Amino acid sequence: ESKTQGRGRATFFEPGMDEAFRARRAIEENLRTALRNGALRLVYQPQVDIAGEAWGVEALLRWSHPNLGEISPEVFIPIAEESGLIMAIGEFVLGRVFEETGSWRHLRVAINVSAIQMRTPGYAAQVIQFAAKAGIDPTRYEIELTETALLGDGPATAENVDLLRRVGFSIVLDDFGTGYSSLSLLHRFQVDKIKIDRSFISSLDEAEEVEGLVSAIVKLAKSFRLGVIAEGVETEEQRQQLILAGCTEFQGFLTGRPMPAPDIEELFEMPAIQRRLA
Ligand code: C2E
Ligand code: MG
Ligand code: MG
Ligand code: MG
Repeated sequence: ESKTQGRGRATFFEPGMDEAFRARRAIEENLRTALRNGALRLVYQPQVDIAGEAWGVEALLRWSHPNLGEISPEVFIPIAEESGLIMAIGEFVLGRVFEETGSWRHLRVAINVSAIQMRTPGYAAQVIQFAAKAGIDPTRYEIELTETALLGDGPATAENVDLLRRVGFSIVLDDFGTGYSSLSLLHRFQVDKIKIDRSFISSLDEAEEVEGLVSAIVKLAKSFRLGVIAEGVETEEQRQQLILAGCTEFQGFLTGRPMPAPDIEELFEMPAIQRRLA
């Protein structure tokens, strides 16, 4: 549709768009400052087995703005990706996660990595360098990538993924089932685990066919000899349905909220029996 106005001049921005654009720029500027001022932090959400025993965590980025309050990564990560700031943010995440979790020898740690990072030539080498400097064991760490991160990307993505796997990092396909070519991706890329997207889990109780879909995904994962975990598990009913579908690894508010590193450490000082679900 043409945005041609009275004077015959085509304008790209409508007033509303202009505002949205300015809001994004404001967030970008604030994010830059946040990165410098230490306003970014990480929280860790437990991942549990069928007995409710936590075996891993996912690192999730948080941003508290002095005036605006908590800003969701769903809002600021895409802006960081567009502005290129994601590279510096990614470095911060990696450094902080390795620092905070390095001593958690009994836990696996999943880190979200953006497509922009993964398609940068030399990215894997940089991660490996960071890991060596921090003295962490890569086999305890998982890199979460979304399907769109792998989809249609050039040779650098494949090279980075390959190198990371060779030194021991695991690759997890995040938000599985929401992309366009999930199946061909499994074939083309070496991934170790798939994470069933929250949208499937949340509609488990609503639509019967979703249960069939989820159990098909689990079967698919198993036939490819991949791990499989469900994200966004909020109710015991969902957990039971997932168990029936063959899924035995869970992450969600039911089995643990994202929490700061000291809380995770406290959780693990408890006797194992107390960490189990009822
Ligand atoms: P994701 O990787 O799929 O992370 C899962 C999201 O689901 C997290 O949202 C988590 O807090 C939320 N969640 C966990 N359990 C439940 C549940 O039971 N119910 C519901 N409704 N939600 C649940 P969060 O932390 O807001 O992160 C959103 C997205 O932002 C992440 O999705 C990820 O794509 C991105 N992200 C977060 N941290 C980072 C990071 O360090 N780097 C990059 N590149 N992306 C990040
Ligand atoms: Mg994730
Ligand atoms: Mg996810
Ligand atoms: Mg997600």
